Amino acid sequence: MEQSSEAPYSNTSRNGRLTVISGPSGVGKSTIVDAIIETTPSEFSVSATTRAPRTGETEGVDYFFVDRETFRAKIHSGEILEWAEYGGNLYGTLRSSVQPILASGRNVLLDIENEGAKQIKAHFPEALLIFVAPPDIHTLRTRLTGRGDTPEDDIALRLSAAQQQMTEAPDVYDYVVINTDLDRTISEVLDILGSGSNELPIH
Ligand code: 5GP
Repeated sequence: MEQSSEAPYSNTSRNGRLTVISGPSGVGKSTIVDAIIETTPSEFSVSATTRAPRTGETEGVDYFFVDRETFRAKIHSGEILEWAEYGGNLYGTLRSSVQPILASGRNVLLDIENEGAKQIKAHFPEALLIFVAPPDIHTLRTRLTGRGDTPEDDIALRLSAAQQQMTEAPDVYDYVVINTDLDRTISEVLDILGSGSNELPIH
């Protein structure tokens, strides 16, 4: 992995905490992330990607959209904390999207896939890793198709990636939550964040 071994984000009382919310696309992650941001002192880390923007996505809000050359340059200059290739595109967490939030004592939410989650856990063992799974692959297909923003080829690719992610999830994540009912899932995730040592008070 091409990244710095420096670990400046230890979970002291002054620093925020890294929380990974992972799961296949279409599982409802963005609604869950929005609910966490509304009810806890947390901010979303905006990643860099070489994927083209989808309709409705905004530069600097959904992602920083960059070309491969720029992405590679960011890896080599140490600007990227973790990265992975997914569906033929590169995705990575920017140091600059994480460090200022943690330093301000707020928690950072990362929406990243399994390879990135593993890298985060290896470098930041105190990070909390949550995987949101669909009840089954058919439900996921229906949700992805219904969203209407993903081409059919891409859906097939994403479903096979989802299958693999779901198989691996119990070995990678601290918690696996099955999203059968979105409200119930949100409350389960908030319970996880509010319990134990993760210091995410709900206000
Ligand atoms: P999408 O193209 O649907 O926005 O994202 C595809 C996948 O890339 C999702 O599983 C998402 O969690 C993951 N992803 C988004 N940003 C990052 C990142 O910074 N690092 C890693 N490793 N995965 C990411």
